[in-house]
Amino acid sequence: MQDIRLRFAPSPTGPLHIGGLRTALYNYLLAKSKKGKFILRIEDTDQSRFNKNAEFHINESLKWCNIVPDESPEKPGKYGPYRQSERKNIYKKFVNKLIESGHAYYAFDDKEELDLNRKRHEKQGKTFIYNWENRNDFKNSLTLNPTETENLIKEDKYVIRYKSYTKDQNKDFILIRDKIRGEIEVDLKILDDKIIFKNDGMPTYHLANVVDDHLMKITHVVRGEEWLPSLALHFLLYDSFKWKKPIFAHLPLILKPSGKGKLSKRDGEKFGVPVYPIKWEENEKLKYQGFKELGFESEAFVNFICMIGWNPGSQDEVFTKNELIEKFNINRIIKSGAKYDYDKAKWFNGEHIKKIDSNILINENKDEIIKGLSNEINEERIPELINLVRERVEFKNNILKESKLVLEYNKNKFKENLSKFKFSQNEFQVINSFNNELENINKEDSKELFFKLLKENEIKIGDGMKRLRLCITGEISGADLFTIIRILKKERLIQRIKISLNSIND
Ligand code: GLU
Repeated sequence: MQDIRLRFAPSPTGPLHIGGLRTALYNYLLAKSKKGKFILRIEDTDQSRFNKNAEFHINESLKWCNIVPDESPEKPGKYGPYRQSERKNIYKKFVNKLIESGHAYYAFDDKEELDLNRKRHEKQGKTFIYNWENRNDFKNSLTLNPTETENLIKEDKYVIRYKSYTKDQNKDFILIRDKIRGEIEVDLKILDDKIIFKNDGMPTYHLANVVDDHLMKITHVVRGEEWLPSLALHFLLYDSFKWKKPIFAHLPLILKPSGKGKLSKRDGEKFGVPVYPIKWEENEKLKYQGFKELGFESEAFVNFICMIGWNPGSQDEVFTKNELIEKFNINRIIKSGAKYDYDKAKWFNGEHIKKIDSNILINENKDEIIKGLSNEINEERIPELINLVRERVEFKNNILKESKLVLEYNKNKFKENLSKFKFSQNEFQVINSFNNELENINKEDSKELFFKLLKENEIKIGDGMKRLRLCITGEISGADLFTIIRILKKERLIQRIKISLNSIND
């Protein structure tokens, strides 16, 4: 059986945003679901757009998400180097092969000349493309004689272009295949002769990408939809080299929170939502927080990202990374763009908090709870408190705050809420009796006691509960009341009810 190998191939031109991270994740999940390898390749051939902090940001983002490459610049395997700038010599050899086989040619046109042509076309409402129709009008190795060509190559003022179509070939169309889009027939006559090699000795993306995918034995190429228009050229390159093609899948866009258009870096500020997995410092003044800094669980974030544009074919949504590996299937990637919904990200986080081992949450919060709430709660009740509160928060770092909220007695709120409904004499008496009897019973039995008193006095459970809650917390709604009663110290409970009843009488 063929070894499955997928790669994530970012260009280090800036921070890794959630779109890029999703591409990495889908590659990773697909590789792992097929017991294959996941490779990180840094595509840094465009030196003009190079950002020296980008690779670090990519690595740290993947690390936080626990998307661990099997081979990468940091952990080279046998197909290295894994940074394209370190593979320069390799591309030279392959571009020479294309020249020898007649699939590529040297072009010496200077920029001004081409710009002039571009402008002339624009004036006539046309787009200028360098291709089969006009390549014979330009200065290149197809039009100059061998000596002229040699001399210009020596001057290093050349680029190498790929000959995408010639009039005398018997094939006018190419059938490209994409796992998500299906088959697409592309008219070769509309393709331009793309530059595949520059005079700085570096290949451009197209050549480097195809050569590396072949040499690194990549079996599936999963990448953003923006590369779909390049797929015909890539198919041609594979054919020119007589190489077997990998399977291609082009992912639909992640759309803005408004659902209109592609999510961009600027949308973070515009919609007030994070767009990077981890923080990014553009410069001294411009710093962005990532999901990590905002308190997201990495597994919840990964789950959220995965569900933008994919579903398991059921209503289930909450998965660990291992469950995603088990379930992931390329056929369930949706064709249309999917909206980035930050509220949904928070929801996922809340769902993942519900799944964290209680002991972890207890250990993380115990000391602070003892410090801040020792008047209200005995230490042995902390696990119960955590279990109550974890259901109510979207972020782990809100557990302490929520614990305080759940256990607090807010006198002002009590007064404000008291004005909203009356206490009958009967209701007042029942709560008073309940409080007196609390002294003598185990708090575990308080529900039974209260319900008994309500029944005896013909008070509806809902009415009684509302009033009791008000007397204990000052609120009219909140977490399960009898759990709160169990958690609170008995003397505090009794004291609160007393204070409340007294102020009703005032
Ligand atoms: N370097 C390209 C990018 O950053 C990779 C595209 C591909 O995966 O082929 O988008």
